[in-house]
Amino acid sequence: MSNKDKDSDVILGIDLGTTNSLVSVYQETNPKLIINRRGLRMTPSVVSLKNKNEILVGELARNQTVVNWEMTAATIKRQMGTSEMFKLGERQFTAVELSGIILRKLKQDAEAFLGHEVKQAVITVPAFFNDNQRLATKRAGELAGLTVLKLLNEPTAAALAYGSARGGEGNLMVVDLGGGTLDITLLEYKDNLFRVKGVGGSTQLGGVDFDRILVQWLADGFKEACGVDLLADPIGHQQLLIQCEKLKIDLSTVTETKITIPYISVTEKGPLHLNESVTREKFEYLIKDQIQTLQGLINDTFVSSGLPKEWVQSVILVGGATRVPLVEKTIRGLLPEEVVFKRDLNPDEVVALGAGVLAGILAGDITDMEFLDVTSHNLGVENHKKEFIKLIPSGTPYPCEKTKLFSTTEEKQTEVTIHVLQNGEREGDEGVVSLGDFHLKNVQPLPAGDPNIDVTFSIDKHGLLNVSAVDLDSGETEEIIITDNIVSNAPESTERRGTELTIV
Ligand code: AMP
Repeated sequence: MSNKDKDSDVILGIDLGTTNSLVSVYQETNPKLIINRRGLRMTPSVVSLKNKNEILVGELARNQTVVNWEMTAATIKRQMGTSEMFKLGERQFTAVELSGIILRKLKQDAEAFLGHEVKQAVITVPAFFNDNQRLATKRAGELAGLTVLKLLNEPTAAALAYGSARGGEGNLMVVDLGGGTLDITLLEYKDNLFRVKGVGGSTQLGGVDFDRILVQWLADGFKEACGVDLLADPIGHQQLLIQCEKLKIDLSTVTETKITIPYISVTEKGPLHLNESVTREKFEYLIKDQIQTLQGLINDTFVSSGLPKEWVQSVILVGGATRVPLVEKTIRGLLPEEVVFKRDLNPDEVVALGAGVLAGILAGDITDMEFLDVTSHNLGVENHKKEFIKLIPSGTPYPCEKTKLFSTTEEKQTEVTIHVLQNGEREGDEGVVSLGDFHLKNVQPLPAGDPNIDVTFSIDKHGLLNVSAVDLDSGETEEIIITDNIVSNAPESTERRGTELTIV
């Protein structure tokens, strides 16, 4: 029995990617990808301001990255949950707002495809996204006019897609190397239940780093040969970046290719052209540090989860950058020979398909599949010695709740500050991050150490944190829902502007 009473109850499964976004819906017995109004499944996650009232999203915006780079924003997801502003011409936008515009476009295209309005969605997020980044994603969905029923971890989505498509139990490793990030997840699929057993990765490793390395190498060579710094010219730099991504993609299928950019620079002596042959071997040499980092992070994930490599039965590769042959070869080299590499679903599409499976579960169309996600950071509070006291360790399945008893450190202390902290253990994390603080007032004025203050951390189905404190003697209670304080401090007008712009 489906819970969908009317068309508008349909739930979209959205993969809001760093480079590209995809949308699916669960129809009959399968998740299906939506074709956008340009006839494509992938919509580039790029936004370009056209004029005061109009904004371009997707393919049209991506076409502006060279000629109109100062009005165009890409890789927006990397700034989610931060205070960094994107400057498009005279205007400033937050990552939330730009993501909201991309989601609005995806919603419009889905509505055109389905022929009716859609109001609800599941949106995927990297497993390592912290509270701020998750909340920013949820807010972007709301700005687009969507009720976000669940934020789903991307590797879990990939596993759901394989679970629904292929059935069968087993121990899986999902390696998701996208445009900007690496996400490693160890999952067990048993009795129709996916259970996450370990997570790892980096927020600073992805396909764009391979592009950047190629750009640097070619620019260095060009400077040496012609004396011109291509990176000093924004247009030349953009052109080089676009062509280097193509070069990298070509080198996944051929062992040697050419990069040609005519008129890349004009000097007093006339125009200069870039013409270079690049071998796969050279590319693999250039990215050797990144590959070493990948190896280290996979090994770390096994160590931190306490599972041996022999535990893995199959590997799911997700994200465009896993198509680099050396990436797959490296992962194979780390695991026992009998491990099966599942590659029959398109790595670009598998996350969106998994989001569609969850949409099917939430709508009641699938009843024989469940999953448990886990936290990706340690969560806790700061004590009076400025030490991190862990309440919820990383790897804890959620929804969950944990309470710990605290007390005062001074005589007749009547107010206690609860400072909520997050501590990441993976590469690219900034160590201990403050998520916010609040004050519990009217604590019983007792000798130091006498009051009994219960602090409770609870995590909801989205992975969002709520912290409360209660003085057990006086009954005084205070709580905070950890909000994205940075984003909510953004000027009001900024957020309004995003919804006023017409997508063309
Ligand atoms: P995603 O975020 O999953 O869309 O991954 C995007 C990244 O994958 C970008 O850096 C792309 O350049 C890269 N990518 C896509 N296809 C290929 C390919 N065939 N070979 C190498 N990298 C690719």
